[in-house]
Amino acid sequence: MLSIQDMFVFCKKKGFVFPDSEIYGGLAGFWDYGPLGIELKRNIINEWWQRFVHEREDIVGIDGAIITNPKVWEASGHVDHFLDVLVECGKCNYRVKAESLIEDFLGIRAEGLKPEDFDRLIKENKIRCPKCKGEFKKARFLQLMFETSVGPVDGVKSYLRPETAQLIFINFRNVVETSRVKLPFGIAQVGKAFRNEISPRDFLFRAREFEQMEIEYFVHPDRLDECSYFDEVKDMEVNVLTAKMQEAGVKEAKKMRVADLVTERIATKWHAYWIALAYKWFVDLGINPKNLRLREHLHSELAHYAGACIDIEYRFPFGWKEIYGNADRKQFDLQQHSNYSKKELCLYDQATKQKVVPYVAAEPSQGVDRTFLAFLFDAYSYDKKRGNVVLKLHPRLAPIKVAVFPLLSNKPELIKKAREVYTTLKSHFNCFYDQSGSIGRRYARQDEIGTPFCVTIDFDSLKQNDVTVRDRDTTKQTRVKIDDLAGWIGKHLK
Ligand code: ATP
Repeated sequence: MLSIQDMFVFCKKKGFVFPDSEIYGGLAGFWDYGPLGIELKRNIINEWWQRFVHEREDIVGIDGAIITNPKVWEASGHVDHFLDVLVECGKCNYRVKAESLIEDFLGIRAEGLKPEDFDRLIKENKIRCPKCKGEFKKARFLQLMFETSVGPVDGVKSYLRPETAQLIFINFRNVVETSRVKLPFGIAQVGKAFRNEISPRDFLFRAREFEQMEIEYFVHPDRLDECSYFDEVKDMEVNVLTAKMQEAGVKEAKKMRVADLVTERIATKWHAYWIALAYKWFVDLGINPKNLRLREHLHSELAHYAGACIDIEYRFPFGWKEIYGNADRKQFDLQQHSNYSKKELCLYDQATKQKVVPYVAAEPSQGVDRTFLAFLFDAYSYDKKRGNVVLKLHPRLAPIKVAVFPLLSNKPELIKKAREVYTTLKSHFNCFYDQSGSIGRRYARQDEIGTPFCVTIDFDSLKQNDVTVRDRDTTKQTRVKIDDLAGWIGKHLK
């Protein structure tokens, strides 16, 4: 099985992701996307925006600032509560997130535990520093937000946003006043988030700078189960690890219908609907459902204001891990910002003729970088017969859609025709032209980076004005007229 380290090596070798500032020795938790990585990442974001914003009439988007008035983070609770527990070795000063240490040593989840709980677990289980076997000092809280100072002299202390979501709440009034939205509706945002993670690790999975795709979906507080779209998803099958199953020590998820999440009171209809849509998004873009599951948060993990929270987890080589979270946040955020800013953050409800603070029935929150990793792991396969890696990315996600080759690199007439075909296709798709090496080698290079189609211009092309299109997954070759080529490829990229 491909390890996360192997995936890093692959990504670097092929130009998907590089360690940030590598020529200066890098910086832990920061990564730079290379020429292929940026294409894949943009395709992921575009697919998400297309599905959840453009194809819907109830969602609008925003793009908020990364640094914002620090009161935002006081009101949201981040200043006081966005903390991780650190443990530090008394001998070699090795620092690690307490939760990860316990997970690694005892194989149990430790989210939401306090420093004293970690001290007890470390003592009871005689856990020593994995580096030098030294004893750990007392565990303590650490703020996860990066601080910064705004203004050239005597700057005001502020923070880099640790999530995009709060920017949605603070823009709520402006959006409502300008967009003619009415309940139920959502506001979406994609952008960078920053967390000073104690132990960044597992490549892109736990970084200090990353990107999120988030929605806050507002409904009337009395209509949490009046989801008019619910029938679209109610019979969908999903793998679920419920809180009860986790409490009973069950490790394997079970199949459930989305409707069962509601009847078993795991989620409201709106909440279940939004989780189902995200699950479907992953599957539609090629993730094998065997590698996906929903995990209901245990009561101990829930924030005091959250009604429920369900993650989508992906089966990474280092275990089942969260790639998406979706909380029912009640009216907490709008009420908090309303209290702190002294501005009314509510809507006039036509039906009841009353003002109402909208209820966040769902907060889909998805990491772009973790999604990127999940798609790569799912697509990666080694084809023994071909003797090379085949990256079976969904064609819509593939960084390069078509590669164009002249059959032979020493025949000017083939090169001329191939360049013509390449130039035409380039105005439709992201294409790559290659005339170096054997045709087999050129196919292999494209297989490895997930290019769905390779177009070869041979001597028959000169006479018949057609080309061979080779399919990445089946290696099947189809003859297509050059005049029809862009249309043919466009149709097969769906
Ligand atoms: P974790 O428990 O793994 O730290 P979280 O529960 O704190 O994650 P959320 O606050 O729910 O994460 O953030 C929403 C999404 O943002 C996550 O599902 C994940 O995809 C992404 N994300 C969060 N932290 C990181 C990180 N350090 N690096 C990369 N992506 C992240």
